[in-house]
Amino acid sequence: MTEKADLQSVLDRAAEGGRITPEEALALYRDAPLHALGAAADAARRRKFAGTEHIATYIIERNINYTNVCVTACKFCAFYAAPKDKAKGWTRDLDDILRRCAETVELGGTQIMFQGGHHPEYGVEYYEKHFRAIKKAFPQLVIHSLGASEVEHMARVSGVSVEEAIVRLREAGLDSFAGAGAELLPERPRKAIAPLKESGERWLEIMEIAHRLGVESTTTMLMGTGETNAERIEHLRMIRDVQDRTGGFRAFIPYTYQPENNRLRGRTQATVFEYLRMIAIARLFLDNVMHIQGSWLTTGKDVGQLTLHYGADDLGSVMLEENVVSSAGARHRSNRLELIDLIRKAGRVPAQRSTTYEHLVVHDDPANDPVDDRVMSHISSTALDGGTAHPELRILAAD
Ligand code: SF4
Repeated sequence: MTEKADLQSVLDRAAEGGRITPEEALALYRDAPLHALGAAADAARRRKFAGTEHIATYIIERNINYTNVCVTACKFCAFYAAPKDKAKGWTRDLDDILRRCAETVELGGTQIMFQGGHHPEYGVEYYEKHFRAIKKAFPQLVIHSLGASEVEHMARVSGVSVEEAIVRLREAGLDSFAGAGAELLPERPRKAIAPLKESGERWLEIMEIAHRLGVESTTTMLMGTGETNAERIEHLRMIRDVQDRTGGFRAFIPYTYQPENNRLRGRTQATVFEYLRMIAIARLFLDNVMHIQGSWLTTGKDVGQLTLHYGADDLGSVMLEENVVSSAGARHRSNRLELIDLIRKAGRVPAQRSTTYEHLVVHDDPANDPVDDRVMSHISSTALDGGTAHPELRILAAD
């Protein structure tokens, strides 16, 4: 299946919305000419978004990291502190979290991603208390947070089923799961980088339960920790199979491993070409997932811009605060005006979106572009110069 004509016929079928097999996806991922792959993925995107194919989206959100204390010790993670490491571990209190939510609202953010370690004492009750308080104070904020790994952990701490945990989170205000923790779903690469995490099958099983209980999610993939091409495609296959049953994955977001301050330092990293090929193959193979997001945060703004020509329809967020991948070396920062400019220079009309991908503001006239230059990416971060782990907040002070 590596003959040029065969590859082109598979590309043509996928561009037309036809389903391709994992074997065909692997052949395309390995051997299809880069530009032909990108052209097919872009055609598939335009077909899927017929009528709004001229638009590319972004969202304004804030990651709120409530603790870095974690019992799971993933080898690629530069964020966590072991529970016994009292000097490095920290937690944020509810007042601090609510102040961060207030800043998000003040700067036009619509979503928060509550993200943290697997704290040995945080069960379902901890999240119920915090989500209720956030929704009471800021009902307009969407809580797009957590994922299967956190649910598995908190259910164990509280001694309840994952079904009960999900229902209680939903009733406390959780709107959707963010889908972090997917890492790599196949067994070999997952065990190599996150041996204490639940299996990939279990991660998907919990997501499937959530989808059936009405909690949709996004899903992710961590590239560049030594996995093979076949394992990358297997990751996509596992997601597509669940999506065929539930339809609950709103988006797929591949991002790249960052090599600093973690125990995998020196492992292979995904190249720009590998990343662009993954965006394209995801658009072609995941025919049942609507949105494909390019991660400018981990690959750089220029690569993020290029993903819009390889099948991506979304550039993710102006993330007002981010500490997790920044701790591992992601130094790319941006702001709202720059993201608008990047999208425009890729030949698309930028639009600010909601969590569920409705267009909130379509920037079709540069004369009406927003002017608030405080809407920038992770100015307040524990991981960057000027960042702070503890309660002093920097975003509004930067005005
Ligand atoms: S990736 Fe998440 S679960 Fe793994 S060590 Fe880091 S904080 Fe803990």
